[in-house]
Amino acid sequence: MTPTDSEVDVLIVGAGPAGLMLATWLSQLHISTRIVDKRSTKIMAGQADGFQCRTLEILDSFGIDRVWKESNHMLEVCFWNPDENGVIRRTVRAPDTPKGLSRFTESVLHQGRMERFFLDYLKETGDRIRVERPVIPSFLQVDESEIKNPSAYPVTLKLQHLTDEEATPNQGNNVPNGLFRSNLTADDTEDLIRKSSGKEGTEETIRAKYVVGCDGAHSWTRKQLGFKMEGEHTEIIWGVLDVVPITDFPDIRVRCLVHSASAGSLMVIPREKRVVRLYIQLKEVGAGGGAVDRSKVTPEQILKAAQKIIAPYKLEYEQCDWFTAYQIAQRVSDGFDKFNRVFLAGDAVHTHSPKAGQGQNVSIQDAYNLGWKIGMVARGQASPEILKTYATERQQIARDLIAFDQKFSKLFSGRPAKDVSDETGISLEEFRNVFHQGAVFAAGLSVDYGPNILVVKEDEGEEGTVRCRPDLANKLKIGMRLPSHKIVNQSDALAIELQRLLPSDGRFRLVVFAGDISKPEIYSRYEKLGEYLPSKDSVVSLYTPPNSARDSVIEVLTVHSAKRIDIELQSLPEAFHPLDKSKGWDYWKVYADDESYHEGHGKIYENFGIDRDEGCIVVVRPDGYVAATVAVDDTQSLEAYFGRFMIKV
Ligand code: FAD
Repeated sequence: MTPTDSEVDVLIVGAGPAGLMLATWLSQLHISTRIVDKRSTKIMAGQADGFQCRTLEILDSFGIDRVWKESNHMLEVCFWNPDENGVIRRTVRAPDTPKGLSRFTESVLHQGRMERFFLDYLKETGDRIRVERPVIPSFLQVDESEIKNPSAYPVTLKLQHLTDEEATPNQGNNVPNGLFRSNLTADDTEDLIRKSSGKEGTEETIRAKYVVGCDGAHSWTRKQLGFKMEGEHTEIIWGVLDVVPITDFPDIRVRCLVHSASAGSLMVIPREKRVVRLYIQLKEVGAGGGAVDRSKVTPEQILKAAQKIIAPYKLEYEQCDWFTAYQIAQRVSDGFDKFNRVFLAGDAVHTHSPKAGQGQNVSIQDAYNLGWKIGMVARGQASPEILKTYATERQQIARDLIAFDQKFSKLFSGRPAKDVSDETGISLEEFRNVFHQGAVFAAGLSVDYGPNILVVKEDEGEEGTVRCRPDLANKLKIGMRLPSHKIVNQSDALAIELQRLLPSDGRFRLVVFAGDISKPEIYSRYEKLGEYLPSKDSVVSLYTPPNSARDSVIEVLTVHSAKRIDIELQSLPEAFHPLDKSKGWDYWKVYADDESYHEGHGKIYENFGIDRDEGCIVVVRPDGYVAATVAVDDTQSLEAYFGRFMIKV
C-alpha cells in the first residue's frame, strides 16, 4: 500500500435515499463504512415524495418515525374524467391505500426531509459514518484473485475531492428546480472527474471489501462494471410543480388522477405544509424524436398546461417551492452485482416514471435487502453465499416494477376513450382496474422472494434438510414480509404490534407460536424446546459468540394461544425469558394471542392460519421477511436451515 491508501469494509458511492439507507443499516451493525457523494449538499426540495406502507414499516423498524409524523397521509383517491360533453367530472372516490394492508397508509413528504432523517440517524448512532462531499470516484478495479478470500480488500478505488464550486451545478432559475438532476439534462460525472484530476492533494486510493454503487440513474459505478440499462425511453415529457395552489377545484387536498378530453392528464398529490404537487403531461415540450430544449421548461409553462387540463376550474399560485421536467424511461440494468463484491442499488439499476411513487421506495428497499447481508458477511457470521440472493431477489422486483410502471404510465399518459367502440383510447374501467390491482404492489407489500439459500418454501423432503411446513401457518406467505397484528405481553398486559418486536438490528428471529401451553401435552412440547435452546448444539449456541448476549444473533420470541391469565411467566423455561445478571429477567419475549384490556384482540393465530393447539415456529430474516415455517418440535429443521449459511463460532 502507498502511504495514502486506506481500507474500509464498505464504500458507498452516492448519498441519495439508497446510499443513506445502506449507511443506516451498516451504522446499526457497526460495519466500517465510508459514503461519498459528488454534490456539496443533500437534496433541499422536491424530487421524490411518496412513501409506501412497506417503506414506512422499514423506517419504523429503525426507530425513524419522523416521516410518519411530518408527512401528509393520503387517505383518498379520486378519478376525474371527461363526461359526454368533454367536461371533467369526478367519477370515482376510493381509499388510497386498500384497507388492512399495513399499520401505515401511503404518505408524502419531500425527499430532502428523508435524507435529513437518515443523516440524523447516522449522527445519533455514533457518528461513525459521515457523508463525504463533494467526492467522486475516478477509478475502480477488482482484484479477481482475491474475491474468494473473505478477509481480503479486493476492490481498489481512487477518490477525487472536488471543490464546492465544481460540485454545485448552476440551476439557472429563481425557483429551486430539479432540472439539473432530471434525465433531460446530460450527466456531468465525467466532466467533474476531468476537472479535478491531477490536482495536488485531491486524490486518494482506497481498498474496500465491498463497494455499493447507489449513484443514481447515470451511475458511474454501473458503467465501470460494464452493465447496461435495458428497456424503453418514451417520448412523453412530464412537468412537476410543487406549489401552494389557489384553486376552486374541489379535490385539491386528495390524491387525484385527472384525465381531460384532449389536453392530457394531471395528477394531484396533496403534500405537507399546504403544498400540492402536480404532475402534468407537457404536450408542447414533446421530444418529437429530437433533443428537448430545457430552457423552455419554466414553472409558468407547466402551470399553463395544468390550467388547460383542469379547466373549467381555475388554478393559480403565488408560492412555488420547486419544479422539474423529465422524460419517462423504463429500464432495468442487466446486472446487479459483480463477483459478489461490487453491488448496485436504487436508480442505478432501475428507472421508471415517478408518478406511481415507487423510485425512492424501491431504492430504499434494495439497500434494505442488501445491508444486513453485507453486515453478516463482513462480521464473519454468514457465508458470502447469502450475498448472491441480493441480485436474484431484487432484480425480479425491478422487472416487476417496470412492468407495473409501463401499465400505469400508459394508462396515465393515454388518451381517454370516447366510447366503448374507441379501441385505442383508455376506458375508465381499464384505468380503475389497473389502479386497484396496482395498489398492493404500489404499497410495496406484494414483494415475494423466491426460494433460495435464505428462503425455504416447501418441505425439502430429505434427512438433514428443512422440513418446511407452510400448512402450519397457511395464511402466512413464506418469502413475504411478516404482517403485523396486536399481541399481548405476558408480563405487563401491554398490547403491541408484532412488527414492533422486530427492530432492524441484524438478528434472525424464531417466533414460536407455542399453541395453548395451558394444556399439559402442548406445554411439554414447548418445555422440550426450552431445554434444547440452551444446549451446546442448538442453533442459538452454535452461532452466538461466547461473550455475547444469548439473543444477539438469533432471538426467540413466544406467542402462545392460552389465556394470558392462565400462564405465569416465571414457570416457563428460562430460555424463553432469559436472565441477564445485570439487566434482570427479560419480560419482553413472551406474548399471548388474547383479548387486551384496551385494544381488542389481534387474533394473530387466526390471521396467520395457525392452529391454536398445533402452533409452529416462524423463522424471520433480519429484514422481517418470512424465511421458513417448521413444526414446534422440529429442531433438526432449524439446524438444517441455519447450517446452510451461518458460520459456527
Ligand atoms: P439518487 O436519489 O439519484 O441519488 C444518487 C446520489 O448519488 C446523488 O446524491 C448523487 O449526487 C450521487 N452521485 C451520482 N453520481 C455520483 C458519482 N459519480 N460519485 C458520487 N456520487 C454520485 N420516487 C418515489 O418513490 N416517489 C416519488 O414520488 C418520486 N417522485 C419523483 C419526482 C421527480 C421529479 C424525480 C426526478 C424523481 C422522483 N422519484 C420518486 C424518484 C426518486 O427521486 C429516485 O428514485 C430516488 O431518489 C432514487 O434514489 P437513489 O438513492 O437510488 O438515487
